[in-house]
Amino acid sequence: MLARRFFSIKLETKILINNKWVDSLSGKTFPTINPATEEVIAHVQKGSAEDVDLAVNAARAAFDFGPWRRFTASQRAGCIRRLADLIEENKSELAYIETINNGKPISDSLNFDLPMTLDTYRYYAGYTDKVFGKTIPMSGPFFTYTKLEPVGVVGQIIPWNVPLIMQAWKLAPAMAAGCTVVLKPAEQTPLSALKVGELIIQAGFPPGVINIVPGFGDTGAALATHKKVDKIAFTGSTEVGLEIVKNAGVNGLRRVSLELGGKSPNIIFDDADLDLAISQAHIGVFLNQGQVCFSGSRVFVQAGIYDEFVSRSASLIKCRKLGDPLDPTTQHGSQISKVQLEKILYYIETGKSQGAKLIAGGKRLGLKGCFVEPTIFADVTDDMTIAKEEIFGPVMSILKFHTIDEVIQRANNTNYGLGAGVVTRDIEKAFKVTNALRAGTVFVNCYSVITEGAPFGGFKQSGNDKEMGTEGFMSYIEKKTVVIKTSEDTL
Ligand code: ADP
Repeated sequence: MLARRFFSIKLETKILINNKWVDSLSGKTFPTINPATEEVIAHVQKGSAEDVDLAVNAARAAFDFGPWRRFTASQRAGCIRRLADLIEENKSELAYIETINNGKPISDSLNFDLPMTLDTYRYYAGYTDKVFGKTIPMSGPFFTYTKLEPVGVVGQIIPWNVPLIMQAWKLAPAMAAGCTVVLKPAEQTPLSALKVGELIIQAGFPPGVINIVPGFGDTGAALATHKKVDKIAFTGSTEVGLEIVKNAGVNGLRRVSLELGGKSPNIIFDDADLDLAISQAHIGVFLNQGQVCFSGSRVFVQAGIYDEFVSRSASLIKCRKLGDPLDPTTQHGSQISKVQLEKILYYIETGKSQGAKLIAGGKRLGLKGCFVEPTIFADVTDDMTIAKEEIFGPVMSILKFHTIDEVIQRANNTNYGLGAGVVTRDIEKAFKVTNALRAGTVFVNCYSVITEGAPFGGFKQSGNDKEMGTEGFMSYIEKKTVVIKTSEDTL
């Protein structure tokens, strides 16, 4: 029904520069696919280094000379709020685009991605007039203060797992701070980002403030190394994040904010409410087809409840409705791509060959579309590949533990540090574990509960900055110190 209703929607497929839709200079396009059907949805203009250069110059001019710098805080907030209102007015269409381009269930697009997108824009709209410096005491006849200013031209590179949310997490704080932006959406999912581009024009952002260049890794690399870019904000794999750090010094210095991968532990103690623990672990791994950076994919279960947890988790997963993402009753849709499908199936085979016990799923569903059955392995040990590497798919590894000190040590024994979970009725135990875990967000008796007001980001190889909350806003701010000579008389 939904498919028919939106059959005639107009998709944006061009590059957005200076509030104008343009073709790529090379004339090249790339097909964007519906992973649930493997059919081409549209051909999108393929941005290259030359297009990035035009977009960065537009953003630079808009920052240095455009009206944006002189917009009052309430004018900037007005643009962001109008954008949020327009996204809300178009939410069914945006949810549909998100679902056909990403493969996620339409109910998730409507009830998770769209609300969080809206909340993020509205939250940061409220930040524009809450930018305060401070006065600093100084010896002698001087008045010294700090002034908070936008960091400048920002290059933003986002992934495909939650495209609208990632776009909002990047654009909203940058807009609120007064930056100008060149955003590169993931090559797999350019369509919702471009649709929001259309709404950005309608919302009244001046030309050049927000530019969107679809393309691949080379487009991202051109943006990350462009000499007129003051800051790069990236969400994606640790591998590419490290490359961006390496390249950050090319063509001059720029700030770099990274939100990267994870292999998050989720620790379930004997005293846990078992119903809660099973559903919490389930949400922790299977939300968004397992394509979540803080996915709680290493589920440590204490020996006393281990067998029951394993058997009941296997029963629960069999109730999860897998299938057509456009069916409003579907809970589990398609993976993003054939490449990702193959990668997940490889990890499943590796789990089996290394001796983990497959207790649910484990196969591709059907021959068309990138569907993988939600999969659970029990008796996983720390040395197995599936316990060490980020799979970014619907694969839960269950590991047995005996004592609290043992599990803390094992949970922290990873290069990642993005998310973590603890399920217990004992508050002392919860405090001990949350204090000991080296992770950016720890969920206690819940999982995957994130809010725009709280900082989000990784420890260790999972990242080097925070998004969301005050910290996410400050990431787009420069601090300027001003020292004014006064006369001795004023002392
Ligand atoms: P994934 O492996 O989940 O697809 P990636 O880290 O490869 O994630 O991609 C995340 C984003 O980074 C995408 O927009 C992608 O095009 C971009 N990207 C990939 N390689 C590079 C690179 N070398 N420099 C900058 N951006 C890149």
